Amino acid sequence: MPNKRERVTIPFLTLKPGEEAEAIDAAIRRVVTRGWFVLGPEVESFEREFATASGIAHTVGVGNGTDALFLLLKALGIGPGDEVITTPLSAAFSALAIVMAGARPVFADIDVNRLTIDPAAVRAAVGPKTAAILPVHLYGQPADMPALADVASRHHLALIEDCCQAHLATCAGRPVGTFGQGGAFSFYPTKNLGAVGDGGVACTGDEQTAERIRKLRNGGQSAQYRHDLAGVNSRLDDIQAAVLRAKLPFLERWTARRRALAALYREHLAVVEPTVPAEHDPGHVYHLFPVRSVARDRLRQHLRTSGIDTLIHYPTPLTQQPAFAEHRPAAAPVAEAICRELVSLPLHPALTDASANQVIDAVRAFAP
Ligand SMILES: *Cc1c(COP(=O)(O)O)cnc(C)c1O
Repeated sequence: MPNKRERVTIPFLTLKPGEEAEAIDAAIRRVVTRGWFVLGPEVESFEREFATASGIAHTVGVGNGTDALFLLLKALGIGPGDEVITTPLSAAFSALAIVMAGARPVFADIDVNRLTIDPAAVRAAVGPKTAAILPVHLYGQPADMPALADVASRHHLALIEDCCQAHLATCAGRPVGTFGQGGAFSFYPTKNLGAVGDGGVACTGDEQTAERIRKLRNGGQSAQYRHDLAGVNSRLDDIQAAVLRAKLPFLERWTARRRALAALYREHLAVVEPTVPAEHDPGHVYHLFPVRSVARDRLRQHLRTSGIDTLIHYPTPLTQQPAFAEHRPAAAPVAEAICRELVSLPLHPALTDASANQVIDAVRAFAP
């Protein structure tokens, strides 16, 4: 028998409320007592409060982050016949939103250091049908937005940011979601700001785009029973909005905690194997903390034996997902190679220093 001594198991994440538990309970009670459950006063207040916290002009509460991307594309008139350039390394939902809009996703490879879409690869992928660029602020680290905004403006393309992992993140000091026509945030429970179910917002600096999305999310209605546009049903509900309002005041502190844990990992994991991807912008909000190892599967096994849960973000590049095969994606050799090396270590605001140190010790004890 191997070591039978009791060891503390470190889960990848916990979704059970901590210091915010009472505020969540009170928020849910308030909504139930009021009896207004969809697109009510909590949604309106949350839209305003999240916009203020994020430094964004307009936000529209929707069903989830995927819908937020889809509705932004639709509001900008991007659909059949158009191509949208995005990254091969992300949650598949980023590119599925493009397919939902009826457009073709075109994958441009990632920057080997930053792990976000490479502006040079985007430039090379622009063609006569290109309508938009959809970068993802992966793991909480902003993509190279000044360079991408430059490509977009040179080629007259829309720029829509996937901010689903990047609540409160900034790029070169500027809030994510403000570099182009808009951005999408997800409040899926595991995100840096998570609901007790699904939720999302589409954000934009343009009042008219916001108004269009406001209609589109609610069946395209301009007034009750008056459908101006063929919209969809993607509304944020008041329980989710109230819970998000209850959690929002904690978000800045939780983000600081994520950054502190990342700094601790960086300080003590400056080892040869695995390697830690560099921080390219202090506006990184550390939704995830991936490391890279050529012996990834053995590293995971080693950590599992040490009581540490890990996950892979993401095991398959989007260029190799069957769902996108009909769009004939070009190969993305950088993303395809890196997907074989990635493993995410536990990092969340409730992780204690003791647990982080246990992770550090276990990683350092790995002999590839
Ligand atoms: C979570 C996520 C999405 C999708 O958000 P949902 O709310 O689950 O629809 C899209 N893109 C990225 C990068 C994500 O992490």
